[in-house]
Amino acid sequence: MTLELAHDLKASVRTIPDYPKPGIMFRDITTLMGDPRAFRRAVDELVQPWAGSKIDKVAGIEARGFIIGGAIAHQVSSGFVPIRKKGKLPHTCVSMEYALEYGTDRIEIHVDALQPGERVILVDDLIATGGTAEGAIKLLRQLGAEVVAACFIIDLPDLGGAAKIRNMGVPVRTLLEFGGH
Ligand code: AMP
Repeated sequence: MTLELAHDLKASVRTIPDYPKPGIMFRDITTLMGDPRAFRRAVDELVQPWAGSKIDKVAGIEARGFIIGGAIAHQVSSGFVPIRKKGKLPHTCVSMEYALEYGTDRIEIHVDALQPGERVILVDDLIATGGTAEGAIKLLRQLGAEVVAACFIIDLPDLGGAAKIRNMGVPVRTLLEFGGH
């Protein structure tokens, strides 16, 4: 990605200080998604390394990962699979506990969402500590999927999430970095 494009994309992200609690700089991508050029470029750039390779499914993490993941699935002609917070999916699920900053939570996927051996790209808007993505990768692997990559528009590298996911053997693609939390 060119420096100019990275600059334009970064400028399309809105930062809201102290949301949802004091000390957090919330990186709001609704402004990026509302900008037709920025949204298209972000989707194109995220999947660029896998253009032309066979992807069976894109798995998106609730909720912003659904929007970006849906666009990516269309782009690579794959299916789309939702990974949701506990209790939201209607059919039988497998579920995985994941680490939050304080405590834990659960994410779920339909038990029949994937076939063993399917090639999957995981998508969310942002990776911070990597706890959510780690839980999602464990879920996908539990169903026998091959997690080809994890893609995020934004990386908060000071929190170490992308490094954690790479250590699980999953290539990580991110487009923009912001320092701090
Ligand atoms: P983590 O599990 O720590 O990597 O957190 C990732 C999830 O929390 C993603 O679904 C993000 O949308 C959300 N998130 C964490 N930190 C921020 C932030 N500073 N701005 C916006 N979203 C965030």
